[in-house]
Amino acid sequence: MEKIASFTVNHLTLRPGVYVSRKDHVGAEVVTTFDLRMTAPNLEPVLNTAEVHSIEHLGATYLRNHPEYKDKTIYFGPMGCRTGFYLILAGDLESKDIVDLLVSMFRFIRDYEGEIPGASPRDCGNYLDLNLSMAHYWAKRYLEVLENITEDRLVYHE
Ligand SMILES: [Zn+2]
Repeated sequence: MEKIASFTVNHLTLRPGVYVSRKDHVGAEVVTTFDLRMTAPNLEPVLNTAEVHSIEHLGATYLRNHPEYKDKTIYFGPMGCRTGFYLILAGDLESKDIVDLLVSMFRFIRDYEGEIPGASPRDCGNYLDLNLSMAHYWAKRYLEVLENITEDRLVYHE
């Protein structure tokens, strides 16, 4: 079988950042898949599932309530390797277009207190597997990249 595009990215040199993973044409529309890379693959520790899960719940809640992006958000969810997330948005977009969105989203996660939205057995398949403190930690860490982002953290390179 053909190697899919996301497996051709050199994970040995990949650093935390915001990258365009792919663009797909769906009918007349373009949808952009972003690689929100939070930790350097095969170099730094990965996120544990409880914080991945917490960021997923809070990030999805933020995006689905955003005045501009709620209608453009197709999907937000974790990578199986637990080094980041995929965000799929309607539109032909570049990484720099969404930096402000991500800064406000990860500030929301960093500062969030109280019960995580959807943290109940009715609303979630594993509602006890959440860790808000570690979600705060990872959001704070990713914001250090996002708030001072440089070109090399916006475009894949070899
Ligand atoms: Zn859940």
